Amino acid sequence: MKSLKENFQKKHIIIIGSGIIGKFNALELSELGFQITIIDPAQHKNSSNAALGLLMGNMYQKRKGRSWDLRKQSIELWPKWIKFLQKFNYELKIEKPLIQLTTNEAKFKKLEKFIYENQDQNLRILETDSLFIKNINKAFQTKNIKGMISFKDGRINAKSLLKTLDTYLKNKKINFLEEEIIKIRKSNNQWISITRKNEGIKSDIVIVCNSLKAVDLIDHLSHNIKLIPVLGQAIEVDINDAEVNLLSLPKQFNIDGKNIIPKSKNKLIIGSTDEYSTNPEENIFEKLTDFLDKKPSWLTKDKISKKWFGIRSRPDGNPSPIMKNLENGLIICTGFYKNGILLAPACSKWVANEIKNYFS
Ligand SMILES: Cc1cc2nc3c(=O)[nH]c(=O)nc-3n(C[C@H](O)[C@H](O)[C@H](O)COP(=O)(O)OP(=O)(O)OC[C@H]3O[C@@H](n4cnc5c(N)ncnc54)[C@H](O)[C@@H]3O)c2cc1C
Repeated sequence: MKSLKENFQKKHIIIIGSGIIGKFNALELSELGFQITIIDPAQHKNSSNAALGLLMGNMYQKRKGRSWDLRKQSIELWPKWIKFLQKFNYELKIEKPLIQLTTNEAKFKKLEKFIYENQDQNLRILETDSLFIKNINKAFQTKNIKGMISFKDGRINAKSLLKTLDTYLKNKKINFLEEEIIKIRKSNNQWISITRKNEGIKSDIVIVCNSLKAVDLIDHLSHNIKLIPVLGQAIEVDINDAEVNLLSLPKQFNIDGKNIIPKSKNKLIIGSTDEYSTNPEENIFEKLTDFLDKKPSWLTKDKISKKWFGIRSRPDGNPSPIMKNLENGLIICTGFYKNGILLAPACSKWVANEIKNYFS
């Protein structure tokens, strides 16, 4: 009897969309032996390239349900994938820990309750006298910040991760087509993906990972799938100021929902917003620094050295993400308006299991 891998080698899978979700699916399925083609007309201009890469898994406060299950699986899978991907980029790593802070007493009480009830050694309360908080207070001139530290959560540099996946995919000689798919249809037992140039590409399976545009390719009405755009913005400030050393701050932390990543002594990233729009707004500095009553003198609008945004898709009327086996050999994996980087390993595993079941 032929091995499963030999059987899979004859099966061709098309992945539409080459953000983190498309690329991670390609990695998982290529390791199982499938022939893969990824199709994307603009792989560097997507929301994955805008992501800050925070992996907020273990600090998620709901400890049951689908969302928690996906997070839990991803937390377990990430170390294995990092080890594997280090063969292609030895510098790839998850920077730990991750700190979540708030200026709101009621939110802090909730965090305390969560930590007390879970008795997880990897989660601890950070009181105002901890060194991390003291350094944050010194730099931001804040007083009332408190929160928690998660030793199991952290950050992966999203751009470096995408580049490493590209190196892997190239090394494995995975086909990549710089095309836009405008239609998919079934013909006998095969799927035909039609490009804008009106070329048809055949495959046994199609995985739709093209975020917002997924609804253009499937019968979204009968599958009850509606996606809405959510804009996320981030800024980099270059302070060029001896007043504060940004490297005295934790490597990554979050205050009242704003993620902060010191890059060097003088550079800091702050992100990101959740806006139900597709056009970046001008008052981004005010939005991203609204956790501060009074801004320290080094943090001013004119210090912004870079700003960027990404548009993600949020399912309307369904929980995020959308992972469905729509019909024989047509799978959708989209609607990652948040946490797409974190959830990529668990979601790719779900897709792989669906495909394995389909062929067995
Ligand atoms: C500022 C910002 C910060 C973020 N920070 C974090 C974070 O810290 N941690 C985290 O986990 N997540 C974060 N996210 C969220 C994360 O970026 C997303 O959840 C994730 O990138 C979604 O990936 P995706 O592959 O589904 O979509 P995308 O990366 O948007 O990729 C979709 C791809 O589909 C392609 N495509 C579209 N139509 C077609 C077509 N017809 N044919 C072929 N290809 C097509 C597009 O060109 C695109 O490349 C952040 C997002 C933003 C914007």
